[in-house]
Amino acid sequence: MRPSSSASRGALPLAEIRQRILELFPREAELESIEFEGPLLAVYVRRPEVLLEGEGAERLRELVKEIRKRIVVRTSDAARMCEGETDAEVRRILPPEVGIVSVLFDRATGEVIIEARNPQLVIMRGTEALREIQKVTRWKPRLFRAPALPSYTITAIRHLYGQTPARPCEEGGVEEGRNREKNEIAKKTKKRRKILNTIGQRVFRDRFLEIIDSITVTFLGGALQVGRSAVLISTNESRVLVDCGINPGAAHPSLAYPRFDYAGFSLDDLDAVVITHAHLDHCGFLPVLFKYGYEGPVYCTEPTVPLMYLLLKDYLEVARRRGVYAPFTIQDVEEAILHCIPLRYGTVVDIAPDIKLTLYNAGHIVGSAMAHFHIGTGLHNILYTGDIKYAFTLLLEPAYTRIPRVETLIIESTYGGPEDVLPSREESEQQLAAIISEAVQEGGKVLIPTLAVERAQDIMLVLNKLMDQGKIPEIPVFVEGLLSEVTALHTAYPEYLSRELQEQIYDESRNPFLSERFEIVKGPEKREEIITGGPAVILATSGMLEGGPILDYLRYLASSPRNVLVFVSYQIEGTLGRRILEGERDLTFYRPDGQIERVRVEMRIRQLTGFSAHSDRRQLSNFVRRFLRTLQRVVVVHGEGTKARSFASFIRNAYKVPTIAPQLLETIRAL
Ligand code: ZN
Repeated sequence: MRPSSSASRGALPLAEIRQRILELFPREAELESIEFEGPLLAVYVRRPEVLLEGEGAERLRELVKEIRKRIVVRTSDAARMCEGETDAEVRRILPPEVGIVSVLFDRATGEVIIEARNPQLVIMRGTEALREIQKVTRWKPRLFRAPALPSYTITAIRHLYGQTPARPCEEGGVEEGRNREKNEIAKKTKKRRKILNTIGQRVFRDRFLEIIDSITVTFLGGALQVGRSAVLISTNESRVLVDCGINPGAAHPSLAYPRFDYAGFSLDDLDAVVITHAHLDHCGFLPVLFKYGYEGPVYCTEPTVPLMYLLLKDYLEVARRRGVYAPFTIQDVEEAILHCIPLRYGTVVDIAPDIKLTLYNAGHIVGSAMAHFHIGTGLHNILYTGDIKYAFTLLLEPAYTRIPRVETLIIESTYGGPEDVLPSREESEQQLAAIISEAVQEGGKVLIPTLAVERAQDIMLVLNKLMDQGKIPEIPVFVEGLLSEVTALHTAYPEYLSRELQEQIYDESRNPFLSERFEIVKGPEKREEIITGGPAVILATSGMLEGGPILDYLRYLASSPRNVLVFVSYQIEGTLGRRILEGERDLTFYRPDGQIERVRVEMRIRQLTGFSAHSDRRQLSNFVRRFLRTLQRVVVVHGEGTKARSFASFIRNAYKVPTIAPQLLETIRAL
């Protein structure tokens, strides 16, 4: 669907929408109520089956066309089949090859969540079986892929949402434990409905002003720097915050967090937050908004929700272990997760009376998105890239460019400098193979720090490939805790990965992440064995050596010149990783027993930039070129000062499009 397709006519006022639904809704469905459910209008009926096909379905389609809002049909609580029987019906209707892993119930939305090993079998054979489930049980079935490796994050989120297995059908004589559980679920259900309703009321509020005559963009972070990305888009009607990150390398809070102290910013006025991807420099400050009372939605892709949950929790854990201040608590993280509205790539949603949002693949990490804002009735379009990779990798498809209209392009510039010519992937793979082979010959170990979600999974695929081709010896590859959970999440969302990898994951025997070459490290006890053992490759977090298990390995391995430390991702200014790259060799570690240990780095230090999840200058400028037809201005962010400025002048000269690299707190007028 094109974002502009429904924008040629103005939006109908809410009262009129309600009236039209009441008039046109098929009577046989027995309409009970109309409620908001985030950016959707939820229509509660007693008999959803009459809307699934034939005349009922036809009339529903016509209605949606007329009111130009997304409608979802829900069955009123009382009309649904009891949960125990529904569970049995689901298992009866779906063929056994689908491989049901769990059947959970979401009472807030009336959905039955089916996690299965082979959901594509149902999709391929048409959705007849799903319609059958809905007809018989009046629960709306939603089919998910069960991760090939168990993921505790997905389980935790289901629990947070109150999505649990079927409750038995018989009432009365229920023992107390079960009653307590029932009350807890009821509380969670009520809370989620309230959250979705509050969000909807704001999205669907009637426009205060008929004419949008001002669109501004303010940079609250991530301007002339990498870290604390935060951009505020304001019209005279609404306000949207895109990304809400921290700066992991900053020494002082005033430099670490977005500048929400800026006079024009207020949480009460904020309509929506959009998070492009789960890296902390894009989402690490999000829970703080909830700590200070934000109650609105957080739009992001499906994989971003669990990844964000995992990384924010890990951030708290790392802060606790190092005894440093964290600006939020686990409760704030959970609030943020409860307010997430997951979207698929390409789905258009109203996020304010005058703004439609569409997320597109950014090619950077799993679930990473670019945010496209269609403002007013065909008035102006802004594309904010977040972090992009405009090239193929083993893991992901390149950033998407078939977007019909972009007038203002806000683009990252991490590798935007003139010297930033990334070596080709083939070249980098050869270099990595050489480094590993050499280390093995000398009996050393290869330590690769990776962000939990970035190159780790890509590097795993590369190592697997190099071993397949016999280019490196078959040595164990150890993958540290958090990385294995993230890898599990990759297997839950294959549709967000490259086409080739998708096919391998669908066929479990070919799933590279399940290869026996990878050994998942469970707990610190195993580390000693690895450190004293033979040649190996070790992948561990954190990617910039700011905490995490990597420091444990580094402390032991640093003093031997036989070992190699290989950086495969970008190192933000101020981080230990960056300092080592710049020549720092005397390191201080805190041992688990609290003692301080000083270590001189004798191990070899190498950097391979070709695996970067960011685009280099050439890829960035190729990306810009795809939008020249409608482009009015380019805004360069997310790059160190000299790189951002240099890339801006390069684009200005090359394409003759007005281009700026704004300063922190600068506001530009897009209209
Ligand atoms: Zn990123």
